[in-house]
Amino acid sequence: MLQPVFVAQRHLSDYTSIVGRPLVEEIRERAARLQGKRILHLSATAFGGGVSEILYTLVPLMQDVGLQCEWQVIYGREEFFNATKVMHNALQGNPQDLSEEQWETWRRYNEINARELSDGWDVCIVHDPQPAAICSLVEEKARHWVWRCHIDLSTPNPATLARLLPSLNRYPASVFHIPAYVPAGMDGRAHEFPPAIDPLAPKNMAFSTDDAVYICQQFGIDVDRPLLCQVSRFDPWKDPLGVIDAYRIVKAQVPEVQLALVGSMATDDPEGWDYFNATVAHADGDPDIHILNNLNNVGAIEVNAFQSHSDVVIQKSTREGFGLTVTEAIWKARPFIGGDVGGIPLQVIDGETGFLVSTVQECAQRALEILGDPGLGRRLGRAGKESVRRRFLTPRLLRDWLELFEAFEA
Ligand code: UDP
Repeated sequence: MLQPVFVAQRHLSDYTSIVGRPLVEEIRERAARLQGKRILHLSATAFGGGVSEILYTLVPLMQDVGLQCEWQVIYGREEFFNATKVMHNALQGNPQDLSEEQWETWRRYNEINARELSDGWDVCIVHDPQPAAICSLVEEKARHWVWRCHIDLSTPNPATLARLLPSLNRYPASVFHIPAYVPAGMDGRAHEFPPAIDPLAPKNMAFSTDDAVYICQQFGIDVDRPLLCQVSRFDPWKDPLGVIDAYRIVKAQVPEVQLALVGSMATDDPEGWDYFNATVAHADGDPDIHILNNLNNVGAIEVNAFQSHSDVVIQKSTREGFGLTVTEAIWKARPFIGGDVGGIPLQVIDGETGFLVSTVQECAQRALEILGDPGLGRRLGRAGKESVRRRFLTPRLLRDWLELFEAFEA
Protein backbone atom coordinates (compact mmCIF):
# COMPACT_ATOMS: atom_id res chain seq x y z
CA MET A 1 0.00 0.00 0.00
CA LEU A 2 3.00 2.28 0.39
CA GLN A 3 3.60 3.66 -3.09
CA PRO A 4 7.13 3.59 -4.47
CA VAL A 5 8.03 6.77 -6.32
CA PHE A 6 10.06 6.28 -9.47
CA VAL A 7 12.60 8.97 -10.05
CA ALA A 8 14.55 9.91 -13.18
CA GLN A 9 18.27 9.16 -13.17
CA ARG A 10 20.73 11.78 -12.01
CA HIS A 11 24.52 11.60 -12.14
CA LEU A 12 26.69 13.30 -9.58
CA SER A 13 29.37 13.84 -12.23
CA ASP A 14 26.99 16.18 -14.09
CA TYR A 15 27.16 18.58 -11.13
CA THR A 16 30.96 18.80 -11.01
CA SER A 17 31.24 21.93 -13.10
CA ILE A 18 28.60 23.66 -10.99
CA VAL A 19 29.63 22.76 -7.43
CA GLY A 20 33.32 22.03 -7.96
CA ARG A 21 35.47 18.93 -7.89
CA PRO A 22 36.40 18.96 -4.16
CA LEU A 23 32.80 18.53 -3.04
CA VAL A 24 32.14 15.80 -5.61
CA GLU A 25 35.28 13.95 -4.49
CA GLU A 26 34.35 14.25 -0.83
CA ILE A 27 30.93 12.79 -1.63
CA ARG A 28 32.50 9.86 -3.47
CA GLU A 29 34.84 9.14 -0.58
CA ARG A 30 32.05 9.19 1.96
CA ALA A 31 29.80 7.09 -0.28
CA ALA A 32 32.52 4.49 -0.75
CA ARG A 33 32.14 3.60 2.93
CA LEU A 34 28.39 3.18 2.57
CA GLN A 35 28.03 1.09 -0.59
CA GLY A 36 24.84 -0.93 -0.80
CA LYS A 37 23.24 0.47 2.34
CA ARG A 38 19.47 0.32 2.14
CA ILE A 39 17.99 3.77 2.66
CA LEU A 40 14.27 4.55 2.62
CA HIS A 41 12.66 7.98 2.41
CA LEU A 42 9.05 8.01 3.61
CA SER A 43 6.90 11.04 2.86
CA ALA A 44 3.26 12.04 2.61
CA THR A 45 3.13 13.02 -1.04
CA ALA A 46 5.02 12.85 -4.30
CA PHE A 47 3.55 16.08 -5.67
CA GLY A 48 3.68 19.72 -4.68
CA GLY A 49 5.54 21.48 -1.93
CA GLY A 50 9.15 21.48 -0.92
CA VAL A 51 9.63 17.87 0.26
CA SER A 52 8.92 16.27 -3.08
CA GLU A 53 11.00 18.92 -4.86
CA ILE A 54 13.97 17.85 -2.77
CA LEU A 55 13.46 14.09 -2.99
CA TYR A 56 13.15 14.01 -6.78
CA THR A 57 16.84 14.97 -6.90
CA LEU A 58 18.24 13.64 -3.64
CA VAL A 59 16.97 10.07 -4.10
CA PRO A 60 18.48 9.50 -7.58
CA LEU A 61 21.77 11.04 -6.47
CA MET A 62 21.88 8.70 -3.46
CA GLN A 63 21.32 5.85 -5.92
CA ASP A 64 24.02 7.16 -8.25
CA VAL A 65 26.67 7.11 -5.50
CA GLY A 66 25.94 3.48 -4.64
CA LEU A 67 23.23 3.43 -1.98
CA GLN A 68 20.16 1.28 -2.43
CA CYS A 69 17.84 4.20 -1.93
CA GLU A 70 14.06 4.18 -2.31
CA TRP A 71 11.30 6.70 -1.80
CA GLN A 72 7.84 5.58 -0.74
CA VAL A 73 4.70 7.60 -0.18
CA ILE A 74 2.35 6.68 2.65
CA TYR A 75 -1.26 5.77 2.14
CA GLY A 76 -3.89 8.27 3.34
CA ARG A 77 -7.40 9.39 2.58
CA GLU A 78 -9.02 12.80 2.82
CA GLU A 79 -9.79 12.44 6.55
CA PHE A 80 -6.11 11.78 7.23
CA PHE A 81 -4.86 14.71 5.17
CA ASN A 82 -7.47 17.01 6.73
CA ALA A 83 -6.12 16.03 10.14
CA THR A 84 -2.47 16.43 9.09
CA LYS A 85 -3.17 19.84 7.57
CA VAL A 86 -4.53 21.00 10.93
CA MET A 87 -1.45 19.46 12.55
CA HIS A 88 0.93 21.19 10.12
CA ASN A 89 -0.66 24.59 10.75
CA ALA A 90 -0.75 24.04 14.53
CA LEU A 91 2.92 23.06 14.61
CA GLN A 92 3.74 26.31 12.81
CA GLY A 93 1.78 28.26 15.44
CA ASN A 94 -1.91 28.14 14.54
CA PRO A 95 -4.03 28.08 17.73
CA GLN A 96 -6.34 25.33 16.46
CA ASP A 97 -5.32 21.86 17.66
CA LEU A 98 -6.58 18.57 16.20
CA SER A 99 -9.83 17.23 17.59
CA GLU A 100 -9.69 13.90 19.47
CA GLU A 101 -11.16 12.28 16.40
CA GLN A 102 -8.45 13.77 14.17
CA TRP A 103 -5.69 12.54 16.49
CA GLU A 104 -7.26 9.12 16.34
CA THR A 105 -7.39 9.29 12.53
CA TRP A 106 -3.72 10.30 12.40
CA ARG A 107 -2.76 7.40 14.64
CA ARG A 108 -4.89 4.88 12.72
CA TYR A 109 -3.33 5.75 9.36
CA ASN A 110 0.13 5.61 10.88
CA GLU A 111 -0.68 2.10 12.12
CA ILE A 112 -1.87 1.02 8.69
CA ASN A 113 1.29 2.35 7.05
CA ALA A 114 3.56 0.91 9.73
CA ARG A 115 2.06 -2.53 9.14
CA GLU A 116 2.62 -2.26 5.40
CA LEU A 117 6.19 -1.05 5.67
CA SER A 118 8.69 -3.66 4.52
CA ASP A 119 11.69 -4.36 6.73
CA GLY A 120 15.45 -4.70 6.47
CA TRP A 121 16.30 -1.01 6.02
CA ASP A 122 19.61 0.35 7.21
CA VAL A 123 18.15 3.83 7.57
CA CYS A 124 14.53 4.93 7.38
CA ILE A 125 14.12 8.70 6.97
CA VAL A 126 10.62 9.86 7.85
CA HIS A 127 9.75 13.28 6.44
CA ASP A 128 7.54 15.67 8.38
CA PRO A 129 4.82 14.93 10.95
CA GLN A 130 2.31 13.06 8.79
CA PRO A 131 4.03 9.65 9.11
CA ALA A 132 5.97 10.52 12.30
CA ALA A 133 4.41 7.81 14.52
CA ILE A 134 5.67 4.99 12.31
CA CYS A 135 9.05 4.66 14.04
CA SER A 136 7.44 4.08 17.44
CA LEU A 137 5.16 1.44 15.91
CA VAL A 138 7.69 -0.71 14.01
CA GLU A 139 11.12 0.24 15.24
CA GLU A 140 12.47 -3.19 14.33
CA LYS A 141 11.97 -2.63 10.60
CA ALA A 142 15.03 -0.37 10.28
CA ARG A 143 18.42 -0.34 11.99
CA HIS A 144 18.40 3.47 12.20
CA TRP A 145 15.59 5.99 12.11
CA VAL A 146 15.72 9.70 11.33
CA TRP A 147 12.90 12.21 11.56
CA ARG A 148 13.43 14.93 8.95
CA CYS A 149 11.49 18.06 9.87
CA HIS A 150 10.78 20.53 7.05
CA ILE A 151 8.62 22.95 8.99
CA ASP A 152 9.14 25.87 11.33
CA LEU A 153 8.74 24.47 14.84
CA SER A 154 9.98 27.58 16.64
CA THR A 155 6.56 28.73 17.92
CA PRO A 156 4.32 25.67 17.87
CA ASN A 157 0.91 25.29 19.37
CA PRO A 158 2.08 23.76 22.70
CA ALA A 159 -0.80 21.30 23.00
CA THR A 160 -0.20 19.88 19.53
CA LEU A 161 3.54 19.58 20.03
CA ALA A 162 3.11 17.94 23.44
CA ARG A 163 0.89 15.31 21.87
CA LEU A 164 3.34 14.66 19.03
CA LEU A 165 6.54 14.64 21.09
CA PRO A 166 6.33 11.06 22.40
CA SER A 167 6.35 9.85 18.78
CA LEU A 168 9.22 12.17 17.84
CA ASN A 169 11.24 11.15 20.86
CA ARG A 170 11.42 7.58 19.65
CA TYR A 171 13.74 8.72 16.87
CA PRO A 172 17.41 8.41 17.82
CA ALA A 173 18.20 11.19 15.36
CA SER A 174 16.35 14.09 13.81
CA VAL A 175 17.25 16.76 11.27
CA PHE A 176 16.04 20.37 11.27
CA HIS A 177 16.81 23.29 8.95
CA ILE A 178 18.15 25.48 11.76
CA PRO A 179 18.78 25.12 15.52
CA ALA A 180 15.85 27.45 16.36
CA TYR A 181 13.43 24.82 15.04
CA VAL A 182 14.47 22.09 17.46
CA PRO A 183 11.60 22.03 19.96
CA ALA A 184 12.10 22.04 23.69
CA GLY A 185 11.67 18.50 25.02
CA MET A 186 13.10 16.84 21.93
CA ASP A 187 15.23 13.84 22.89
CA GLY A 188 17.73 12.06 20.70
CA ARG A 189 20.36 13.80 18.66
CA ALA A 190 19.15 16.81 16.69
CA HIS A 191 21.19 17.66 13.60
CA GLU A 192 20.82 20.77 11.54
CA PHE A 193 21.29 21.14 7.84
CA PRO A 194 19.13 23.04 5.39
CA PRO A 195 17.54 21.72 2.20
CA ALA A 196 18.78 22.50 -1.29
CA ILE A 197 17.71 22.93 -4.88
CA ASP A 198 18.70 21.07 -8.03
CA PRO A 199 20.51 23.39 -10.45
CA LEU A 200 19.90 20.95 -13.31
CA ALA A 201 16.14 20.55 -12.84
CA PRO A 202 13.87 22.34 -15.33
CA LYS A 203 12.91 24.80 -12.60
CA ASN A 204 16.47 25.94 -12.03
CA MET A 205 18.46 25.20 -15.16
CA ALA A 206 20.03 28.10 -16.99
CA PHE A 207 17.65 29.76 -19.42
CA SER A 208 18.52 32.15 -22.17
CA THR A 209 17.07 35.60 -21.66
CA ASP A 210 15.15 35.21 -24.92
CA ASP A 211 13.44 32.02 -23.77
CA ALA A 212 12.43 33.55 -20.42
CA VAL A 213 11.10 36.62 -22.20
CA TYR A 214 9.14 34.49 -24.67
CA ILE A 215 7.45 32.54 -21.88
CA CYS A 216 6.60 35.59 -19.76
CA GLN A 217 5.15 37.30 -22.81
CA GLN A 218 2.78 34.40 -23.33
CA PHE A 219 1.25 35.19 -19.96
CA GLY A 220 0.57 38.80 -20.87
CA ILE A 221 3.66 40.35 -19.27
CA ASP A 222 5.01 43.42 -21.05
CA VAL A 223 8.65 42.42 -21.06
CA ASP A 224 9.84 45.96 -21.74
CA ARG A 225 8.45 47.18 -18.40
CA PRO A 226 9.73 46.31 -14.91
CA LEU A 227 8.34 43.22 -13.24
CA LEU A 228 8.06 42.26 -9.58
CA CYS A 229 7.21 38.66 -8.87
CA GLN A 230 6.39 36.28 -6.04
CA VAL A 231 6.14 32.51 -6.57
CA SER A 232 4.29 30.71 -3.79
CA ARG A 233 1.15 28.95 -2.72
CA PHE A 234 -1.88 31.17 -2.00
CA ASP A 235 -1.56 31.04 1.74
CA PRO A 236 -1.87 33.78 4.38
CA TRP A 237 1.67 33.09 5.66
CA LYS A 238 3.07 33.80 2.19
CA ASP A 239 1.36 37.21 2.36
CA PRO A 240 0.41 37.81 -1.29
CA LEU A 241 -1.89 40.64 -0.14
CA GLY A 242 1.12 42.37 1.44
CA VAL A 243 2.99 41.95 -1.85
CA ILE A 244 0.14 43.70 -3.67
CA ASP A 245 0.24 46.53 -1.12
CA ALA A 246 4.00 46.92 -1.60
CA TYR A 247 3.55 46.90 -5.38
CA ARG A 248 1.00 49.72 -5.08
CA ILE A 249 3.48 51.87 -3.18
CA VAL A 250 6.10 51.18 -5.86
CA LYS A 251 3.59 51.91 -8.63
CA ALA A 252 2.88 55.36 -7.20
CA GLN A 253 6.48 56.24 -8.09
CA VAL A 254 7.14 53.87 -11.00
CA PRO A 255 3.83 53.73 -12.86
CA GLU A 256 5.05 51.25 -15.47
CA VAL A 257 5.80 48.51 -12.90
CA GLN A 258 3.95 45.16 -13.12
CA LEU A 259 3.44 42.38 -10.59
CA ALA A 260 3.17 38.61 -11.15
CA LEU A 261 1.88 36.37 -8.39
CA VAL A 262 2.52 32.78 -9.38
CA GLY A 263 1.06 30.11 -7.15
CA SER A 264 0.28 26.45 -7.51
CA MET A 265 -3.22 25.28 -6.65
CA ALA A 266 -4.54 21.92 -5.62
CA THR A 267 -8.07 21.32 -6.90
CA ASP A 268 -8.95 19.70 -3.56
CA ASP A 269 -7.67 22.51 -1.34
CA PRO A 270 -10.68 24.72 -0.55
CA GLU A 271 -8.61 26.93 1.78
CA GLY A 272 -6.16 27.59 -1.06
CA TRP A 273 -8.99 28.63 -3.36
CA ASP A 274 -10.49 30.95 -0.73
CA TYR A 275 -7.18 32.69 -0.38
CA PHE A 276 -6.65 32.77 -4.13
CA ASN A 277 -10.04 34.49 -4.46
CA ALA A 278 -9.14 36.94 -1.69
CA THR A 279 -5.92 37.75 -3.58
CA VAL A 280 -7.82 38.32 -6.84
CA ALA A 281 -10.26 40.60 -4.97
CA HIS A 282 -7.37 42.54 -3.43
CA ALA A 283 -5.85 43.09 -6.89
CA ASP A 284 -9.13 44.82 -7.73
CA GLY A 285 -8.92 44.37 -11.48
CA ASP A 286 -5.53 46.09 -11.87
CA PRO A 287 -4.43 44.97 -15.37
CA ASP A 288 -0.77 45.15 -14.32
CA ILE A 289 -1.23 42.51 -11.63
CA HIS A 290 -0.98 39.03 -13.13
CA ILE A 291 -2.24 36.25 -10.89
CA LEU A 292 -1.30 32.90 -12.35
CA ASN A 293 -1.45 29.33 -11.20
CA ASN A 294 -0.79 25.81 -12.40
CA LEU A 295 -4.29 25.64 -13.85
CA ASN A 296 -3.05 28.25 -16.34
CA ASN A 297 -0.33 25.72 -17.17
CA VAL A 298 2.32 27.36 -15.03
CA GLY A 299 4.73 24.52 -14.37
CA ALA A 300 8.42 24.29 -13.52
CA ILE A 301 9.64 25.88 -16.76
CA GLU A 302 7.27 28.80 -16.38
CA VAL A 303 8.27 29.33 -12.73
CA ASN A 304 11.88 29.34 -13.94
CA ALA A 305 11.06 31.91 -16.62
CA PHE A 306 9.29 34.24 -14.19
CA GLN A 307 12.06 33.98 -11.63
CA SER A 308 14.72 34.51 -14.33
CA HIS A 309 13.04 37.46 -15.98
CA SER A 310 11.78 39.47 -12.98
CA ASP A 311 13.53 42.69 -12.01
CA VAL A 312 12.84 41.93 -8.35
CA VAL A 313 11.79 38.59 -6.87
CA ILE A 314 9.90 38.86 -3.59
CA GLN A 315 9.08 36.28 -0.92
CA LYS A 316 7.29 38.39 1.62
CA SER A 317 6.38 35.54 3.95
CA THR A 318 5.41 36.16 7.55
CA ARG A 319 6.32 32.56 8.42
CA GLU A 320 8.53 30.26 6.36
CA GLY A 321 10.10 26.88 7.19
CA PHE A 322 12.89 27.32 4.67
CA GLY A 323 11.48 28.77 1.48
CA LEU A 324 12.91 26.92 -1.50
CA THR A 325 11.60 29.73 -3.69
CA VAL A 326 14.15 32.03 -2.07
CA THR A 327 17.13 29.97 -3.13
CA GLU A 328 15.51 29.30 -6.52
CA ALA A 329 15.26 33.03 -7.17
CA ILE A 330 18.71 33.88 -5.88
CA TRP A 331 20.28 31.09 -7.94
CA LYS A 332 18.99 32.92 -11.01
CA ALA A 333 21.05 35.93 -9.86
CA ARG A 334 17.97 38.02 -9.42
CA PRO A 335 17.76 40.83 -6.87
CA PHE A 336 15.70 39.39 -4.02
CA ILE A 337 13.59 40.80 -1.19
CA GLY A 338 12.32 38.45 1.51
CA GLY A 339 10.50 38.54 4.82
CA ASP A 340 12.90 38.45 7.77
CA VAL A 341 11.38 35.23 9.14
CA GLY A 342 12.07 31.51 9.51
CA GLY A 343 14.50 30.09 6.99
CA ILE A 344 14.75 33.22 4.83
CA PRO A 345 17.54 34.99 6.81
CA LEU A 346 19.56 31.77 6.54
CA GLN A 347 19.60 32.28 2.78
CA VAL A 348 19.93 36.05 2.54
CA ILE A 349 22.61 38.31 3.98
CA ASP A 350 20.78 41.60 4.20
CA GLY A 351 22.25 44.14 1.80
CA GLU A 352 24.74 41.65 0.33
CA THR A 353 22.84 38.83 -1.30
CA GLY A 354 19.39 40.41 -1.17
CA PHE A 355 17.27 42.40 1.26
CA LEU A 356 15.36 41.32 4.36
CA VAL A 357 12.22 43.26 5.25
CA SER A 358 9.60 43.20 7.98
CA THR A 359 6.92 45.53 6.62
CA VAL A 360 5.10 46.35 3.41
CA GLN A 361 6.65 49.81 3.48
CA GLU A 362 10.19 48.42 3.74
CA CYS A 363 9.51 45.93 0.98
CA ALA A 364 8.34 48.72 -1.34
CA GLN A 365 11.30 50.90 -0.40
CA ARG A 366 13.83 48.18 -1.24
CA ALA A 367 12.06 47.41 -4.52
CA LEU A 368 12.27 51.09 -5.45
CA GLU A 369 15.99 51.14 -4.62
CA ILE A 370 16.63 48.12 -6.84
CA LEU A 371 14.53 49.43 -9.72
CA GLY A 372 16.31 52.77 -9.49
CA ASP A 373 19.83 51.30 -9.48
CA PRO A 374 20.43 48.40 -11.90
CA GLY A 375 24.03 48.13 -10.66
CA LEU A 376 22.77 47.37 -7.15
CA GLY A 377 20.50 44.63 -8.47
CA ARG A 378 23.35 43.07 -10.41
CA ARG A 379 25.67 43.11 -7.38
CA LEU A 380 23.07 41.51 -5.12
CA GLY A 381 22.25 38.92 -7.75
CA ARG A 382 25.87 37.94 -8.37
CA ALA A 383 26.73 37.66 -4.67
CA GLY A 384 23.51 35.75 -4.03
CA LYS A 385 24.20 33.23 -6.75
CA GLU A 386 27.65 32.44 -5.35
CA SER A 387 26.25 31.93 -1.86
CA VAL A 388 23.67 29.48 -3.22
CA ARG A 389 26.39 27.67 -5.14
CA ARG A 390 28.33 27.10 -1.93
CA ARG A 391 25.46 26.33 0.41
CA PHE A 392 22.16 25.36 -1.15
CA LEU A 393 22.66 22.99 -4.09
CA THR A 394 21.73 19.31 -3.79
CA PRO A 395 25.29 17.88 -3.73
CA ARG A 396 25.92 19.71 -0.43
CA LEU A 397 22.70 18.21 0.96
CA LEU A 398 23.80 14.76 -0.23
CA ARG A 399 27.15 15.24 1.53
CA ASP A 400 25.37 16.15 4.80
CA TRP A 401 23.20 13.04 4.64
CA LEU A 402 26.18 10.80 3.93
CA GLU A 403 28.00 12.27 6.91
CA LEU A 404 25.05 11.38 9.12
CA PHE A 405 24.87 7.82 7.73
CA GLU A 406 28.60 7.42 8.40
CA ALA A 407 28.08 8.50 12.00
CA PHE A 408 25.48 5.73 12.36
CA GLU A 409 27.97 3.17 11.13
CA ALA A 410 30.85 4.43 13.30
N1 UDP B 1 6.02 26.17 -6.71
C1 UDP B 1 5.70 25.84 -8.01
N2 UDP B 1 4.68 26.48 -8.62
C2 UDP B 1 3.99 27.45 -8.00
C3 UDP B 1 4.31 27.78 -6.66
C4 UDP B 1 5.34 27.10 -6.05
O1 UDP B 1 6.34 24.98 -8.64
O2 UDP B 1 3.07 27.99 -8.62
C5 UDP B 1 7.17 25.48 -6.10
C6 UDP B 1 8.30 26.43 -5.76
O3 UDP B 1 9.04 26.72 -6.94
C7 UDP B 1 9.06 25.64 -4.70
C8 UDP B 1 7.95 24.86 -3.99
O4 UDP B 1 6.82 24.85 -4.88
O5 UDP B 1 9.95 24.75 -5.31
C9 UDP B 1 7.53 25.52 -2.70
O6 UDP B 1 8.48 25.31 -1.72
P1 UDP B 1 8.71 26.37 -0.56
O7 UDP B 1 9.72 25.78 0.38
O8 UDP B 1 9.07 27.72 -1.13
O9 UDP B 1 7.30 26.57 0.15
P2 UDP B 1 6.20 25.54 0.68
O10 UDP B 1 5.11 25.56 -0.36
O11 UDP B 1 6.85 24.19 0.86
O12 UDP B 1 5.72 26.18 1.97
